[in-house]
Amino acid sequence: MFWAVYISDKPHSKVNFKIGMNQGVWGVKEKKKGTVQSIKNGDLVAFVYSISWLKAEGAPPPGFSRIGKEQIHNFRGLVQKIIIGHVTKGFYSSSTEVWPDDDYPYRFDFEIIQDYGENIFFGTEFFNEAFVEAVRYSACTQGAITGANSIELLADITYNVDEPANEELSFEASGYEGKPIMKLHQARERDPKIVKQKKDQVFAKTGKLECEICLMDFEKIYGKLGRGFAECHHKNPLSLREKSEETTLCDLAIVCSNCHRMLHRKRPWLTLDELKNIYEKQKS
Ligand SMILES: [Zn+2]
Ligand SMILES: [Zn+2]
Repeated sequence: MFWAVYISDKPHSKVNFKIGMNQGVWGVKEKKKGTVQSIKNGDLVAFVYSISWLKAEGAPPPGFSRIGKEQIHNFRGLVQKIIIGHVTKGFYSSSTEVWPDDDYPYRFDFEIIQDYGENIFFGTEFFNEAFVEAVRYSACTQGAITGANSIELLADITYNVDEPANEELSFEASGYEGKPIMKLHQARERDPKIVKQKKDQVFAKTGKLECEICLMDFEKIYGKLGRGFAECHHKNPLSLREKSEETTLCDLAIVCSNCHRMLHRKRPWLTLDELKNIYEKQKS
């Protein structure tokens, strides 16, 4: 059986989470003992710690992170940690003190078998829906241990986009924006149809394709050779969930190759404004 537990970053939860992960023990209060009683040796438990809404997406839905099932697709953002524990001792009760506010006698022990690292994109576009739903439910019920079937990172989200012949966009893909997200991001930025639309739109409006960060214009520097050349950067990683046709051109920015690399150099990726500030500060 597979289970999910959501832990908030309230001060006491923060402390308790750390202790639990260090000692390989988790426990719940009397009123939450319902499901924990079903936990058996060999089960897997995903501990999901602290979700936050991404500012780039505007205002969070009301009540976030406690939102209803019908809003499952809004249960998304960044989570600070996902840790998978393998249960080594199924349900038991004990009043030995583990946590400073120990009110959690209904317990199980586990060993950590996987740590997804820090700052993980979360939501139905990155994980299977049953898992996201279990985490959402747990978040709404102050950490009830919730059955989840499985956890799957939807790593094989791909679009039919030809790989470029060169290494134009071969950023290292690790950590925060892991492979699936980088892949999706690149696929979107390479989608010839929307890239062309974006370039046409900007060219029609301004008569050039100038980098939105440093104002570099390939045609100005390289003449005819540079005409029509620019890269597109997809500004909002989370809107990648939308179907290709739905990508609005506003989600794309025209950037030069240097600025594009700089945007992806830091994790989380820099925003256009952040890089622009850095660039302008450095220049002056
Ligand atoms: Zn630039
Ligand atoms: Zn990009």
